[in-house]
Amino acid sequence: MIPLRRNIKEMAGYVPGYQPADAAAYIKLNTNENPYPPSPRVLEAIMAEAGEGLRRYPDAASRAPLEAAARLYDFPPDWIVMANGSDELLNNLIRAFAAEGEEIAYVHPSYSYYATLAEIQGARVRTFGLTARLELDDFPARYEGKLFFLTNPNAPLGFCFPREFIEELAGRVTGMLVIDEAYADFAEEHSLDLVRRHENVVVTRTFSKSYSLAGMRLGLAIARPEVIAALNKIRDHYNLDRLAQVAAAAALRDQDYFRGCVENIRATREWFSNALRELGYEVIPSQANFVFASSPDRNGERVYQGLFDRNILVRYFTDPLLAHGVRITIGTREEMEKTVEALRDIR
Ligand SMILES: *Cc1c(COP(=O)(O)O)cnc(C)c1O
Repeated sequence: MIPLRRNIKEMAGYVPGYQPADAAAYIKLNTNENPYPPSPRVLEAIMAEAGEGLRRYPDAASRAPLEAAARLYDFPPDWIVMANGSDELLNNLIRAFAAEGEEIAYVHPSYSYYATLAEIQGARVRTFGLTARLELDDFPARYEGKLFFLTNPNAPLGFCFPREFIEELAGRVTGMLVIDEAYADFAEEHSLDLVRRHENVVVTRTFSKSYSLAGMRLGLAIARPEVIAALNKIRDHYNLDRLAQVAAAAALRDQDYFRGCVENIRATREWFSNALRELGYEVIPSQANFVFASSPDRNGERVYQGLFDRNILVRYFTDPLLAHGVRITIGTREEMEKTVEALRDIR
């Protein structure tokens, strides 16, 4: 017998969205990647770094991207930590705050990877549901778990909780409130100012969606320096390699390019949402780079399969709360026009 910890033996493990080997054969709208390439400055920076210098370790403090982030978000550098994808931060937050047997919570439906990370740690997991009006259901006046993860904008539904409500939550959560802002760059609002006003608030961001860098694995968190110091103790000391560090700094510095991509995606999102509604779909107004849409027969699997047969990949969830719809990433206008054509075809 191999002496595995019991929780590891019993856990199922996370299943990421499908990444086909022949991605070029599909219109790929299933994992919320950006349809535009990264900034040309990013590619220049990577090419310049990709030389004999790679034999040296990277800067363990990731100073170049950290300083670029500090300037952009207007926080001192000791309020920020860079990470190898925001998934690394979610993992390290659980390691920092929830001991074995202690409780963490998140909203269901949102990002179920929080549960996988908690299972690895041996922490207990609680979920809070949503009402039909997309409000948090049954959340206590005081929540005493160690961490509460709030995905905002919500994934996979795409809506945002009202700002006043999030601020109220910061007071109701006695542990840490982690606001996972993976999609905030596509939204009207964000919660970074709550980090200044509430010592228990952490905001996480990723470069995977709005900065077109899913393949580089880059994320960051903003929180009080005491929290950042703890996350710095826990992380791999060389968590960002040399190429990732120069890519992150270049991406953050090229805000003109970034804003152009985000604006295009938001405009395409509005066009696509309206086109879906004209086909009789119910579409939740989205603040992210995807929409959650239900066909008139409320059969997400049929829509998924019909699109798959036409080489269009979207995300379908078997969860009974989500099986009536599909989550569709916003691609280029041309990709979304083809998707509308295909949906008309399979009506
Ligand atoms: C994509 C995503 C992440 C992971 O981001 P990475 O930086 O790619 O690890 C985290 N949270 C949510 C809600 C996401 O959708």
